[in-house]
Amino acid sequence: MTKQPIHGLTNAQLVERARELLPRGHGVARRIHRTVMLQGRFDPESFGLGPEACESWRAEFSFELPEIVRVQSDEGDHGATAKMVLRLQDGLEAESVCIPMGRDRYTLCVSSQVGCKMGCTFCETGRMGLLRHLTTDEIIAQLLVARHRLGRPIRNIVFMGMGEALDNAKSVIPALRVLNDEAGLAIGQERLTICTVGHVEGIRLLRQEGLKRLNLSISLNAANDSLRSELMPVSRRTDLAELQQALVAYKPRRNFALGVNYCLLPGINDTEADARAVAEFCMPLGRVLVNLIPYNPGSTPLTRAPHAAEVERFIGWLRAQRLPVRQRVTKGRSVMAACGQLGNPSVRKEHRALRTARA
Ligand code: SF4
Repeated sequence: MTKQPIHGLTNAQLVERARELLPRGHGVARRIHRTVMLQGRFDPESFGLGPEACESWRAEFSFELPEIVRVQSDEGDHGATAKMVLRLQDGLEAESVCIPMGRDRYTLCVSSQVGCKMGCTFCETGRMGLLRHLTTDEIIAQLLVARHRLGRPIRNIVFMGMGEALDNAKSVIPALRVLNDEAGLAIGQERLTICTVGHVEGIRLLRQEGLKRLNLSISLNAANDSLRSELMPVSRRTDLAELQQALVAYKPRRNFALGVNYCLLPGINDTEADARAVAEFCMPLGRVLVNLIPYNPGSTPLTRAPHAAEVERFIGWLRAQRLPVRQRVTKGRSVMAACGQLGNPSVRKEHRALRTARA
């Protein structure tokens, strides 16, 4: 019998499921949920239930976190960026990154898939192909491991790890509900960010969900169709005009500012004309904030990392177009935990071996 993972449910969902499934002992469902989410333990015995009720809780529900295969840390100004490699129940591995934000606060970059089918040429994960979607509980488990096993006080969550989050909206949207659940993890929507390559069906779905304070950012990386199609195959299916339309329609609140991520690739997308094209793309979108990300060369680099002067020059061109820009500080490069570096060669090799063994 398949047990229901508690950490894939909101507090209200667990209460409802417990009422349906348990002949007795369902009255403590609210408290069990909070203990799982806030303390990282599932312990029906500690709620004064009789042995039978405890047994039925354990028969119907589960709480198992993935094993930590390894944690690699990279010291920086605000503390250590830590990449966690987690082994899922089927043996596949997912990666998450704890990023220090100063004052002992961390952002967790979570994965939504093992691998990714989007095939962005500058991305390590894209080289793996899609192995499978993560389930809602596997997404939430990344936060619970970071908080309760590594002891990191995670404040913000960004869906920017392995995978295209909106390609797995079926698990990611319920995960947003679980994260935001006031009776559980209670992470405000303004502290959650979905990052997408421009999955327009997903953007439309997200809009229908009415998560008004959620943050959304897109990976633009090129604002002309031919270059973007070369860098990001998704652009062959959805051109920039269609993406722009979907983004214009996505206005969850009056003061919403869309994040526009631009990975600066020297010699590829770093001219003044590229900066002007970014401004033209952004013009109809209302408030935007461009996050400029200096390219992190991976195992098979597309180009080199940009020099500081090149980054400054491009930022200047964007600002001349009246675009608000901030430079993303590169963290975790030495442990392959920086943007575009998840799914590194050792994980790819392990997954290939696992796939071969199963074939
Ligand atoms: S950048 Fe994101 S969407 Fe593109 S291949 Fe990598 S993980 Fe997938």
